[in-house]
Amino acid sequence: MKFCVSYIIIIAAVLLLLNTYPLLVSQDLVFRSKEATLQSSVSVMVYSLSGLEQLDEENVSAAMAVVEDTGLSRILVTDTAGKVLYDTRETGDALGEYVLYTEVVQALLGNDAFTCSYRDDAFRSRATSPVLYQNQIIGAVYAYEYDTEQAALLEGLQANLLRLSAVIAVVVLLLSGVLSVLLTQRIRSLLTAIRKVREGDYSHRAEITGKDEVAQIGQAFNSLSDRLETTEAARRRFVSDASHELKTPLAAIRLLADSILQTDNIDWETTREFVADIGQEVDRLSRITEDLLRLTRLDNGVMEQADAVDVLPILEQVMRMMSLVAQEKSVDLTYEAAEGCLVVGTRDEIHQVIYNLTDNAVKYSASGSSVQVSLHPVDGQAELKVADNGAGIPEEDLPRIFERFYRVDKARSRAAGGTGLGLAIVSDTIRRRGGTVEAANRPEGGAVFTVRWPLVEGGRSE
Ligand code: ADP
Repeated sequence: MKFCVSYIIIIAAVLLLLNTYPLLVSQDLVFRSKEATLQSSVSVMVYSLSGLEQLDEENVSAAMAVVEDTGLSRILVTDTAGKVLYDTRETGDALGEYVLYTEVVQALLGNDAFTCSYRDDAFRSRATSPVLYQNQIIGAVYAYEYDTEQAALLEGLQANLLRLSAVIAVVVLLLSGVLSVLLTQRIRSLLTAIRKVREGDYSHRAEITGKDEVAQIGQAFNSLSDRLETTEAARRRFVSDASHELKTPLAAIRLLADSILQTDNIDWETTREFVADIGQEVDRLSRITEDLLRLTRLDNGVMEQADAVDVLPILEQVMRMMSLVAQEKSVDLTYEAAEGCLVVGTRDEIHQVIYNLTDNAVKYSASGSSVQVSLHPVDGQAELKVADNGAGIPEEDLPRIFERFYRVDKARSRAAGGTGLGLAIVSDTIRRRGGTVEAANRPEGGAVFTVRWPLVEGGRSE
């Protein structure tokens, strides 16, 4: 609206200028040309009177008779007292009368005078000059011109300019009207789209036409809605998955508790067994909630103060811990690691990453198989590889393996005590520290996970 008003004000100012400035300039030009022609005519007359010693009616009309017709409306010649000695006006001439026009007085005082005015569709110009004899003023010549021709030209110009301005004004008004209606419509449709998305219809998109700024806003809004839609879908899936995951152990606890309560004469051995099962389910619940809390902290960007941490001692600690689990499963866990792999992070999170990957490798390997862990600096990065020769991961599941609650084999994962969040935590933690993680299948069978952290200056590079 503001834009429209200022636009109209500017156009109005331009039109006003168009209707005044050229007219003023042409008027001024006419004044100047009148001054030149009138004064030269007066000079001619003064020249023809200049030989006379004294002016009287006869010698003046004799001298004036020689002057060519100048086309002027009136010519007066007066003596020093302002008495008219010669007058070209045919009707009611002023012979013998005294004229005291300002221009005549000026001339009798010895000055040339010129005035011109534009009034009532005519230019009225007056010029006077003194008549001298031996440097003595002996009279004055007064010329008057009443010009309607130039005035008519000027008026024609004025009328044309007015017509032109009217056409411009109408075109501008029409054009700005049409443009503002179009713009308002497009902005309104954009506002409707924004309202719909705000109210929760995340699939709604703004209609985009053209390539101008409004279209660009529309595009920006649509890509924002795309992100909102994806985030919202992920959030919903996460909430539903999380509730489902929590529901399963809760249902199991309920079932076990009911069994104890409802079985008559239940023996102590069975009760112990059931209570132990309840304990396992509770452990699972706390593992899930712990993992969920960890993920929420990662989502909120709440990270502990990071330092340059050496990965090797942490790796050795995890290996010591895991070797017991591996032994129990008859899995051969081996590792080889280089020194000097300093990365940015905290001991806890690096521990968590190595632990989750090794735990999975052991968990998803059959007894008698082997798991190899290695740590090396490669191209300015610390590269951790955890390889096993278990069943591997089906190719179609590889891209989704790092999603929250995603499992290839739900039953197997649950049976092994998995929460489906381990890899999500690994990938989020590493990404937050500027690193990468990828999963692949080994040609000889089994899966291999590769983590790369940027090495800290001072760390060794091969
Ligand atoms: P879980 O708690 O189920 O192990 P993760 O997020 O750690 O959850 O892993 C997700 C899924 O990826 C697992 O359920 C499993 O199907 C698969 N997976 C992870 N590591 C391996 C591995 N080393 N070998 C085969 N499958 C694996």
